[in-house]
Amino acid sequence: MRVVTIEAEDDFDGWRDAVRGLVLDQVPPDQVVWQVGDGAGELFAGQGSSGAAPARAFSVPRPFIDLARNAILHRDRERFALLHTLLVRLRDHLKLLEDQADPLVRRVESFAKAVRRDIHKMRAFVRFREVQDDDGARYVAWFEPEFHIVRANAAFFVDRFASMRWSILTPELSIHWNGKRLSEGPGASKADAPDGDPVEAVWKTYYASIFNPARVKVGAMLKEMPRKYWKNMPETALVPQLIANAQRRESEMVTTAKTKIGGNIEAAWHALREEAMGCTRCHLYKHATQTVFGEGPVDARLVFVGEQPGDQEDLAGKPFIGPAGQMFDRALAEAGVDRARVYVTNAVKHFKYEQRGKRRIHSKPDAGEISACRWWIEQELAIVKPQVTVALGATAARSLFGKVMTISRERGRAHQLPDGGEAWITVHPSFLLRLPDPDARHAEYAKFVADLKAIGKRID
Ligand code: SF4
Repeated sequence: MRVVTIEAEDDFDGWRDAVRGLVLDQVPPDQVVWQVGDGAGELFAGQGSSGAAPARAFSVPRPFIDLARNAILHRDRERFALLHTLLVRLRDHLKLLEDQADPLVRRVESFAKAVRRDIHKMRAFVRFREVQDDDGARYVAWFEPEFHIVRANAAFFVDRFASMRWSILTPELSIHWNGKRLSEGPGASKADAPDGDPVEAVWKTYYASIFNPARVKVGAMLKEMPRKYWKNMPETALVPQLIANAQRRESEMVTTAKTKIGGNIEAAWHALREEAMGCTRCHLYKHATQTVFGEGPVDARLVFVGEQPGDQEDLAGKPFIGPAGQMFDRALAEAGVDRARVYVTNAVKHFKYEQRGKRRIHSKPDAGEISACRWWIEQELAIVKPQVTVALGATAARSLFGKVMTISRERGRAHQLPDGGEAWITVHPSFLLRLPDPDARHAEYAKFVADLKAIGKRID
């Protein structure tokens, strides 16, 4: 059995050096015991790092490094060994990280995801109080992280509060900034941190600057904000006001992006897409691989809105590439509509599914999820400004019109969207794929193509 010691719970570099040597020496993961620090008296006790020579190296896909950097900050004591196993398997199967059905990949990703959330919470919920010491004002905050994120987050606070002297106290570690240098100290208790109101001027510039409207789950924020942080936040009373302002600020973000770049809608679209990648407005982001944003020319005259990404789209991060998307492409071609000139997107940007064995079975988004995700489609449409928007299926119609629409009654004619734009409604291609009777499928497909032809004629 090989015993490997790394210096600290968050010592990613130590783990990387050690695991590099282990992999090159072909030491199997189940023959390694990982320990942290001196570990005296603990199961994980042992010596220093494996001492792998820096010159002995092999390349690892960048996504693994990013994943491991976060996952290693988790508290699960198996994380070092799990990452070692993942690394060994990755060397034989370079695309392993894309296999979302793999239990190890999913477990390690769940570590990384939880850590990312904790990092964000620390940035959002730390509150400084002013104290006076021999050198004048010092700002002190108390925070209780779930994971080993304090060192990883230190640079963020240095950057934000470079000109202040501050300390952040946590149960395991304290970090201190004297305006020039960052130092560490032992853990503290809440009693070590000053009580009283946080410094008004500090939080106004800090909290207001990190309050990201695109991440606000309107109506749920007060309910979902972790209560353990409330006690550090006397300004909680101001949150309803911030929420009330959020949607206005969201629209301003898009407008600002457009203005900043001199009306360049490409850059505005990229900024919006980037923002959507971190969306947590509803719970669907938790299990999906990624946000699947819209695609196509940002000055398209025609926008098609589907329901949500499917299994293949979720993995690839691209809309309309699965079986339904392929049927859609074929139908567009038969209708004489140039696929390259249309923009395609979905009403809901994360894949909702049920896990059955190794399979992920599509699950229909509910009204709350459609409503939460509507903001993104509204912003996409505000940027693209299509001449005609087409709802493919009931979910898309509900998103665009804000109410239930009956496809059979509403298809085949133009409608007006709440913002005045022209919209059409037709079936979703996946409906055609689900029809068991070939004759019925053939007939419905012909109707779908006829709808697309009529829509195509509306475009200048
Ligand atoms: S489904 Fe939409 S609202 Fe929900 S997390 Fe994903 S992008 Fe955000």
